Amino acid sequence: MTNAHGHHVVVLGGGYTGMFTAIRLAHRTRRTGVRITLVNPSGRFVERLRMHQTAAGQELPVHRIPDLLAGTGVQFVQGAATAIDPEARRITLDGSLTVGYDTLVYALGSATDTGNVPGADAHACTLNGPRAAGRFAARLTELAATGGTVTVCGGGLTGIEAATEVAEAHPGLNVTLVSTEEPGAMMGPKARAYLHRSLARLGVALETGVRVAKVLPDGVELADGRILRSDACLWTAGVKVSPLAAEAGIATDDRGLVLTDGTLRSVSHPEIHAVGDAAAVRMDYGLLHGSCQSGLPTAQYTADTIARLVRGKAVKPFRFGYFHQPVSLGRRDAVIQFTRADFTPIDRLRLTGRAAVRYKEFVSGSPLMTFRCSKRMNVSTVVSRGGRAAAAPKPAV
Ligand SMILES: Cc1cc2nc3c(=O)[nH]c(=O)nc-3n(C[C@H](O)[C@H](O)[C@H](O)COP(=O)(O)OP(=O)(O)OC[C@H]3O[C@@H](n4cnc5c(N)ncnc54)[C@H](O)[C@@H]3O)c2cc1C
Repeated sequence: MTNAHGHHVVVLGGGYTGMFTAIRLAHRTRRTGVRITLVNPSGRFVERLRMHQTAAGQELPVHRIPDLLAGTGVQFVQGAATAIDPEARRITLDGSLTVGYDTLVYALGSATDTGNVPGADAHACTLNGPRAAGRFAARLTELAATGGTVTVCGGGLTGIEAATEVAEAHPGLNVTLVSTEEPGAMMGPKARAYLHRSLARLGVALETGVRVAKVLPDGVELADGRILRSDACLWTAGVKVSPLAAEAGIATDDRGLVLTDGTLRSVSHPEIHAVGDAAAVRMDYGLLHGSCQSGLPTAQYTADTIARLVRGKAVKPFRFGYFHQPVSLGRRDAVIQFTRADFTPIDRLRLTGRAAVRYKEFVSGSPLMTFRCSKRMNVSTVVSRGGRAAAAPKPAV
């Protein structure tokens, strides 16, 4: 790639990583003649990091993608990709419109998987977007009038944040968090103990070490045969990704994540770059898990990489290290566990209480701030490149 003029980059997905890739790339390729198109099914930018707040009944500001892109030159196309033809370098939107590309950025994210347990799809709510979270919020408001029971399935960070947010907003509801693992298992002992004290203070009951076998219209059936009656169920256990890449013959892992090389390009189709939750990115310490913490650096790296490639320049491999596990515990409490690059906790480094609330709020608001600033300057979202824990440098491409 040496002739930037007229080069067309299509970014599929207008979530955290697609937006950041498009805006940063526009800034890095200004005056080169590179064209950028961003495709997303909705004109609303969804702050997924705040969906548990919506579920608890909070009104969030609405951010429109065209407004966020204003002044960047990025063209916004509203539509859902329904097929990719990597040989013809073309995507199909909503089954009819086709859009060609020279370079494709695959940023389709992930969603909660309700297909892994019977009944979850039919009887559980999710945090898959403002509508789904809003339906759950409406149900909770109905229940709150008379008291009732709520089951949150999945004790990962999303389940913990949702259970505490709901318990704080609706103290009259009985909230139970059901999890195979102990909530906070990935934290050090002190942060985990703090988390458990907060769950107890908010009255969140725990069912740990158990698997949900089935979601029923009026409760959940556990693998040990017990039934927990509940008036509303929120499913947060497990994620799935779009089948588009696999259907198109782009190399994916067994979950459908796009397999990437050291420069985050598809191992089967190097003109396709993958970022965020939809990309399988391996460091020496293991596969990155879906998070904004790792997703935004993949987007930053990819924007910079494409900007270099269209100018015919070499690129260095992607490197990333984690540095924190931020968890909100309602609006008035939070716990932040700082980590090593490989995500293992550093027990003595943690924040709790009001300082943690401010820290977490900064984390949740920082993507939008980053988008706005990235129109004019190169803002870095990289705190750690992982040091020795991250991938050993691979040959430049
Ligand atoms: C409640 C909750 C709290 C979280 N808290 C944290 C946190 O504190 N810290 C953290 O690091 N991470 C957190 N996460 C995870 C974080 O939200 C994800 O890792 C992040 O959103 C991934 O960004 P992404 O751009 O890859 O995907 P997304 O933000 O999901 O964006 C994907 C985009 O692709 C679009 N899309 C999907 N299909 C198509 C299609 N066929 N055609 C076109 N567009 C399509 C979607 O509409 C969406 O706009 C949280 C997640 C949840 C649900």
